[in-house]
Amino acid sequence: MEFSILADSFNKMESTRKRLELTQYLVELFEKTPQDVIAKIVYLLQGKLRPDFEGVELGVAERLAIGAIAKSAGTDEAIKKIENEYKKCGDLGHAASIILEQKEQTTFMVQDITIERVYDTLFTIAELEGMKTQNRKMVYIAGLLNDASPVEAKFILKLLLGTLRLGVAENTVMDALAIAFSGDKENRKILQYAYNVSSDLGKVAETIASKGIDGIKEFEIILFNPIRPMLADRVKSEKEAIEKIGNEFAAEYKLDGERVQLHIEGNKVVLFSRSLENISSYYPDIIEKIPKTIHADNVILEAEAVAINENTGEFLPFQELMHRRRKYKIEKAVTQYPITVNFFDILYCNGKSCLELNYKERREKLEKVVSEDDYAKHIPMTIVKNENDIEEFFENSINAGSEGLMLKILDKPYRAGSRGSHWLKLKREYQNELGDSLDLVVIGGYFGKGRRTGNYGTLLLATYEEDEDTFTSICKVGTGFSDESLDQLYQILHPKVTIKKNPRIDSEMEADVWFEPELVIEIVASDITLSPIHQAAKNKIRKDTGLALRFPKFTGKIRMEKAVEDASTNEEVITLFKGQNKIAHDKNLM
Ligand code: AMP
Repeated sequence: MEFSILADSFNKMESTRKRLELTQYLVELFEKTPQDVIAKIVYLLQGKLRPDFEGVELGVAERLAIGAIAKSAGTDEAIKKIENEYKKCGDLGHAASIILEQKEQTTFMVQDITIERVYDTLFTIAELEGMKTQNRKMVYIAGLLNDASPVEAKFILKLLLGTLRLGVAENTVMDALAIAFSGDKENRKILQYAYNVSSDLGKVAETIASKGIDGIKEFEIILFNPIRPMLADRVKSEKEAIEKIGNEFAAEYKLDGERVQLHIEGNKVVLFSRSLENISSYYPDIIEKIPKTIHADNVILEAEAVAINENTGEFLPFQELMHRRRKYKIEKAVTQYPITVNFFDILYCNGKSCLELNYKERREKLEKVVSEDDYAKHIPMTIVKNENDIEEFFENSINAGSEGLMLKILDKPYRAGSRGSHWLKLKREYQNELGDSLDLVVIGGYFGKGRRTGNYGTLLLATYEEDEDTFTSICKVGTGFSDESLDQLYQILHPKVTIKKNPRIDSEMEADVWFEPELVIEIVASDITLSPIHQAAKNKIRKDTGLALRFPKFTGKIRMEKAVEDASTNEEVITLFKGQNKIAHDKNLM
């Protein structure tokens, strides 16, 4: 198919933003398109060569493109001219078309260029890597430009530079496909399903073009093609959740990590992020460890990968996980930032879709297919029946370091690619920071691992309980320490190690070592939560329950000048807790 047809369509589409007109131009284009080219056209329309999850990056530097235009224009002064035109119009594609128009008047076009040729050349360029390939890229581009009309050149350059912005949304493409190949825009919904389970609009287009709407109805999940994830609506309170989804549903911890979609067959594992990017390279540990826990020939699973404190098993916030976002030395990051993989859904198993199974059936299957160990977990779940149940589970989840709860209707299927009320999320509206830092007493320590070996990697901290003259545990802190501060703290704390816990220390939590309560350090935290384990303000807010800091972080300040009796008291912590809840409450009323 001639590239000029596509260039003409691009030209028309560039001149409008109206969805109806765009749809009409697309329908006209698709009607002229042979089956074997339609996928390519659909990708090009979106400025891509392949679906996003394959990670084929189109895009060359402007410098290189200018060089190629000059080469094609065949004069040495061309570079200056191009730069001048570019400055004037701000669009290199347009500048090229003006330069090449001048050339066109003096030479003959050699051959028509086809869409296939443009696509294949762009693909070859995208696959070339490294600095040494610049010249070859330039030769390929100049080759295309030599045979292109000015309008074609304009769009070839826009594709190459990643500046083709036609404003056609996926939905518009699907509307047009439905009209062009089935005569009925309503069939968009069927196309939408195929897109949601494959994330590949080119493949959807090819299927409807070759097999019609019946072919689309039979469209199936393809292992190693990501499924567009199901999303949740937000609710502000337990009460609102019950109003929305009834009296009995599943509550799961909402862990604060990275959503990972795992595609597994034997030892082959591919991981996709929530935005469908292939993230396998960040998690070599998942690739290695998870296949051993799977009891099926092939599966697609969803899990939350969460950073943990290896000493305590506590969940750590999302930011910790981001240390893994690196290309090099990933092995080091894997040991420094350990994770657990917490499974919450199964979408495909032994060659069959599980999407139509309801939540309960999927959860049962998930528990059968994935066996738990230190690394692979089923996300904590319970069936709740009333506000109290939810509240209790909510508090447990927060204390375990999670963000809140996901509430899921028991008899509903998995709706790929849609946000809706089958799933609800319930987070507390936090004040960002407590507003104030706290001065806490160091009472215990845990030996560090990895970079922190030989130091105390995590400290157990306490508030001062004035009435009893004791030090009540309130949190463990393992973040905010530089290498230097860890060394310094070790020097100070090591001489304070005691064989037996000082009787003024009130802690149910165990520690590797206990210290004489003599040192105060400064801590910030995101908020204060109820805690079944910590002893600070125990029984003051709720029976058998204390208070704990969530996401505590060392500020770097060792308060050598402070006596432990000057540390933050439980009275102060109670005031902060109440203030914070008032803010959350007021926000909910707004
Ligand atoms: P949000 O990003 O606030 O819209 O919340 C949705 C995200 O919560 C998902 O994309 C997951 O990464 C994460 N998540 C954590 N725990 C769960 C769970 N139990 N079920 C579903 N998603 C979860």
